[in-house]
Amino acid sequence: MRIELLKQILAVPTCSRQEGRMVEFLVQHVRQRGPARCGEITTDDWNNVFIRKGSIGILPCVAAHIDTVHPLRPVEIVQHDGILFGIDELEQRTGIGADDKAGVFICLELLERFDNISVALFASEEIGCVGAHHAPAAWFQNLGYVVEFDCPARGLLSYTSGGVRLFQNDGDFIQRAMPALNRHGLTNWQDHPFTDVMALRERFGISCLNLSCGYRNWHRSDEYVVLDEVQAALDSGKDLLRALECRRTPSMLTAAATPRQCWMSPAFNWQYDDQSESRQARRRGRDRPAR
Ligand SMILES: [Zn+2]
Repeated sequence: MRIELLKQILAVPTCSRQEGRMVEFLVQHVRQRGPARCGEITTDDWNNVFIRKGSIGILPCVAAHIDTVHPLRPVEIVQHDGILFGIDELEQRTGIGADDKAGVFICLELLERFDNISVALFASEEIGCVGAHHAPAAWFQNLGYVVEFDCPARGLLSYTSGGVRLFQNDGDFIQRAMPALNRHGLTNWQDHPFTDVMALRERFGISCLNLSCGYRNWHRSDEYVVLDEVQAALDSGKDLLRALECRRTPSMLTAAATPRQCWMSPAFNWQYDDQSESRQARRRGRDRPAR
């Protein structure tokens, strides 16, 4: 993998509603690499960035978000003992927004490894998936599924995101994905707070996954990236996309409206406790503000 590119991305200042510099960086990068390697890039009024490569009907989609919680300021990226971290002008450790620039990097790497692929990079995820909620529906019409890279460390997957199940249990999508996920040690299913695929699943009923991409201590000044874990995420992404291929089956779309009604099959080794999910659902219900 291109560690220099990862460092470049980590050094671009970006935060929610102020992703302009990152958008500029991405447009320049993709155009410089050229359409044969990177396809065509477009942006929208919300600072979302979309890339499409290949001519076949149904494309796989990989995703990440381009905003961070850190203020816009210059940061020096330091590499030491297999990790990358950030130093500010006062030589203090500072957050590098590896959540989710590590995901952005993996998407750009996968883009160049497949002939038919699409990439969605969302703005303002950290303030409520604003970009994903407003992204143009037409762009998502011919996607088979969306794999986002916005979990920390390695081996983690979102079973739910913001309380939304991301795929139909026992559906074709997860059955085809499971062997690749297992091979790469992606076995730690968890309930996670919202990320962009929650909005996409709710809006379009598309099957989604959200996977680890190697960032640690997210949202903190001592945030860092483990290079081995980024590489592991890239390897798992490659294998997963090959396993899922460029297709969409009807079952990927049918269960979306009622994700909570798709119960788990004992055939899968879900490290997951449905009891705690219903407790969480009740808690969420209580906490939800009245409309
Ligand atoms: Zn994130």
